[in-house]
Order: sequence, then C-alpha cells, then structure tokens
Amino acid sequence: MEIIQTPSASKHDVLTGLLALREKTPALENIFDAFSPLLKAQEDGRILLEKWSDFEIPEADALRFEQGVPILAGMDMPNLGNFFPEIFWTMTTALAKGMPAIADKVTAIIDALKDSDSLNELARSVWEEDNNAIEVFAKDANVDIAILTILGSLSLKPFMNRMKDEAAVEIENMFWNKGYCPICGCFPDMSLLKKQLTENAEYMAGHGGQRWMHCSCCDHQWRIKRNICPWCDSEDYKKLSYLQSEETKTERADICDTCKRYYVTIDTRDLTEMPDPRIAPLSLVHLDVKAQEEGYEPMAETLWNSL
Ligand SMILES: [Zn+2]
Ligand SMILES: [Zn+2]
Repeated sequence: MEIIQTPSASKHDVLTGLLALREKTPALENIFDAFSPLLKAQEDGRILLEKWSDFEIPEADALRFEQGVPILAGMDMPNLGNFFPEIFWTMTTALAKGMPAIADKVTAIIDALKDSDSLNELARSVWEEDNNAIEVFAKDANVDIAILTILGSLSLKPFMNRMKDEAAVEIENMFWNKGYCPICGCFPDMSLLKKQLTENAEYMAGHGGQRWMHCSCCDHQWRIKRNICPWCDSEDYKKLSYLQSEETKTERADICDTCKRYYVTIDTRDLTEMPDPRIAPLSLVHLDVKAQEEGYEPMAETLWNSL
C-alpha cells in the first residue's frame, strides 16, 4: 500500500469519491446530498485557482515557526482579483442547492449582492477576521450575517488550498509539534493513522503507526505525536481515549477529557485504499453525533458537525 501525503492522482476526483462513499453508506445519504454540492464547489474553486498566482508566500522564520506561528499567520491578503467573486457565487449556489432550509436567506444574499463590486472587501474582512467589518457589510446589504460569514470563509478556502503546496515547501525541514495547521493555523477536521513506512521502525514498532492531521481549511496534512491532544497539548494518557464506531472498528472519535474536545480518526493501517480526507469526514458524522452527545466539542467546526 502506498501512503503518500496528498496524492496528486486524486486531485480532481472529489465527486467520484463522494458518490462512492454515498453508495457505501446509504444511511448518510442526506448528509451527502446536503454537502456534496459544497465540496464540489470547493473543488471547482481549486481547479479555477490553478490559474491564480498573484501571491507570495512569506519567508519562513524558523524560530518563530518552531515556536508555533503558522507560516501564513499575519500574511496580508493577496490580490484575489475576480477569482473571489466567481468562487463566492459558486459557493452560494451550492449552499442553496444543498440546504433548502436556508435557501431563502441565501437567495436574499444573491439578490442583495449580485451587482456588488465590493465582494473583495468582504473577503478582506473575513481574511482579517474583522467581525465588525463583516457586521457592517451584512447590515448594509441587509442579509444574514452568519450565512454571509460562512460563505465568505468557504470562498477563501480554495485560495488557502492553492497556496499550501508552496508554503509546505518553505517549512519542509522545520520542526512543528502543534495540533493546528503549520500553514494556515486552522484546527484539523480529521486525522489518519498511517502505517510507519520508513526508518525508526524500531521506535515505532508496536505503537500503532503515525498520526497525520488534516487541516479543515487548507487541506494540508502534518504529522504529530500519536498520544497528544491537538487542542490542549495534554499528554495525560488517562484522559485521552476514543469512542469507537460500532460498525466500523477503523473509525473513531478521539476525545480529550482535559479540554473536552474531539476529532474524528480513520485507522488506515489495514485499509487497501487511503481515504480522501477532503470528503471522508462526511462519512464519520455518526461519530460527531456520538461525541457531541457525550459533551465533547469538535476541534474544527465544519458545516456538517455544526449545522
Ligand atoms: Zn491549513
Ligand atoms: Zn485536550
């Protein structure tokens, strides 16, 4: 089995992957139908942005980075050009299509902003996490602020994704032991346990392989220590455990009783095919439900674990 970070062969097959997963887990059909349009829109955005190169990755400062400052932290928003509005409208259509319950609020956003030439200002407010500016923007347009914010951040994700490969090169020889993404600083939406491939076999033998976290924003994967809480850094093994899926023993929610956070994990060591972490979390929603019922909060809020 070949285990390579972010396999390029599967770069553009999100829809195929979604359809296969939907077939495999009919109980989750509703979840797939609600979120597939959005994941497809993310993918369309990524493909569109292969043409976008108007950005410069900040030079990594090893000291700062190794103290836990992600490489893109504090980066000024690059020129998103007309790409942002185009992606924003694709996301908007996808959200209305997948979630009829909020379609009227989304339609109100379309009506209010369709002739707007200030969508990139919205992008900037979301980029800078300037909640006041987002609020002013939403009030001026008389639209739902929560949904506008969701659409703004969903529309920025393909840009983060576009920059992450170059950013990853900058930091490839540097040390990182944090639970949040070394590139963009977001927390993971899932983790994959992978077989130990190379050296250090002795050190790792019998310890269950490597833990790779998947970024909920930029799609980067990074390795962290196996038995540490990515949220609070606790290594208190008495407080780190997991809730297992009854049907599939390779799937679980890792929980931490120090901070009461959880994240979902797939143990891939005996799988013949590596799950695609961009879509796999959708098939683990039953674990989100389980963990949240037991009082744990997700490390990364995604649409499917928070709506
Ligand atoms: Zn990231
Ligand atoms: Zn914790």
